[in-house]
Amino acid sequence: MTSSRKSDDQILAKLQGVTKMYSQPDHYDILVLDDINLTILKGQFVALLGPSGSGKSTLLRIITGLSQPSFGTVLYRARPVTRPNPHAAMVFQSFALYPWLTVQQNVELGLTAKGIDRTERRQKALRLIDLIGLNGYEEAFPKELSGGMRQRVGFARALAVDPELLCMDEPFSALDFLTAENLRSELLDLWLDDKIPLQSILMVTHGIEEAVYMADRIIVLSKNPARIVADLVVNLPHPRNRKSGDFIYLVDHVYKTVTASDRPQLNSPLKLVPSSFHDPESEERAQLKPIPYGHLSMLSGLLELVSDRGGRDDLYRLGSELLLEVDDLLPVTDTAELFHLATVAEGDLILTEQGRQFAEVDVSLRKQIIRRELLNIPLFRLILRVLSAKSNHSMSKEFFTDILEEHFSHDQAERQLALAINWARFADLFHYDTDSERLYLADDQIAEAADQDAVLD
Ligand code: ADP
Ligand code: MG
Repeated sequence: MTSSRKSDDQILAKLQGVTKMYSQPDHYDILVLDDINLTILKGQFVALLGPSGSGKSTLLRIITGLSQPSFGTVLYRARPVTRPNPHAAMVFQSFALYPWLTVQQNVELGLTAKGIDRTERRQKALRLIDLIGLNGYEEAFPKELSGGMRQRVGFARALAVDPELLCMDEPFSALDFLTAENLRSELLDLWLDDKIPLQSILMVTHGIEEAVYMADRIIVLSKNPARIVADLVVNLPHPRNRKSGDFIYLVDHVYKTVTASDRPQLNSPLKLVPSSFHDPESEERAQLKPIPYGHLSMLSGLLELVSDRGGRDDLYRLGSELLLEVDDLLPVTDTAELFHLATVAEGDLILTEQGRQFAEVDVSLRKQIIRRELLNIPLFRLILRVLSAKSNHSMSKEFFTDILEEHFSHDQAERQLALAINWARFADLFHYDTDSERLYLADDQIAEAADQDAVLD
């Protein structure tokens, strides 16, 4: 279906230097997409794969013209995209249907907007409702449908306008396993049988298996900021067998690429772009790095499992055994790396000496290990320094969220602090009182924090 000849008439969309920044209330902008260059050819089913929060939805919105890049251009059939592209249609993760309209009216929506007359609209909608397996439900309202049926309506509505480019933002992730599996293969049938006049499909996903199962090409994005770190071809014939050696090999390969791309981002500070002026204090605070969203109970479980396996195991296998998507597993392995308990190499998780100890000792010794590690992390040092300096050894949560908001969005700042409080509670580093919303040091912690003063400076 794809060819290596890239003559201009084969190019459907082209992104050149697409960069997106979101401005923050303070004087920093957050760089979300960094210099994305991408050419989408006719006939391609492209999967965009990346950790959550990396900018996949942002990129999709920019490609369809729903949002504009800060720098760079999007060309569609060699013309710059400056408004919502009428040849592109979008399917969202959550079934964005109008509750007061019937199935048929929902499907007809895009056609009404195009000024197509009533009879033709009706015929077309009925044909698509049939194609997508919803006949009999034309007059039903969204609330009467299951999640899977609603998503079918979403597909029918997107396809009704005869789009050339179908964009899907995690279209299967809110569905139960069997429904998702069904819809995936039905969509593939439609695509492969040429029953619909589609030129290309662009699917955002964080499921590696889903990408390898469906797409011809997988673009892997990094996070903070998003850059293209791999552009992989999937040349397995359809229907693809998830148990075949080739399939498993490719999934494993993509897994390695994704885990490798995730690592350098963790070790580098969040990329911030000073937009007007900067002061020395915020520069000092610029050392703050995002901490990974790893839960400590999950971390303990993972390390014990790997320890049982002799201290090293394949991440892909661990993920499937723990029923974790890569998106859920990576924050845990990132946390293991942050605490020097394990390293990731070649798609394997390998315990360090400290990691082996951690897996074997009881909870109180585990707390000590985590405590020692937390004392080396700028966010925790900052919190301890502030609490130690106060005469009442207490400070409002808001004070710290404000600092974090210099680096992160409001939601992220809240999440980072909630996680820090959670870790600190485990390691007995400081406390948090939910009623007064204050962080504080208990008596024994004051003495210990004083002991640590030398460490902190
Ligand atoms: P993904 O779809 O990969 O999960 P998104 O594209 O939704 O990621 O978001 C990427 C980043 O951009 C996130 O950090 C998010 O908080 C930020 N972001 C998205 N939209 C906005 C916005 N309108 N204003 C500020 N930040 C935003
Ligand atoms: Mg998204």
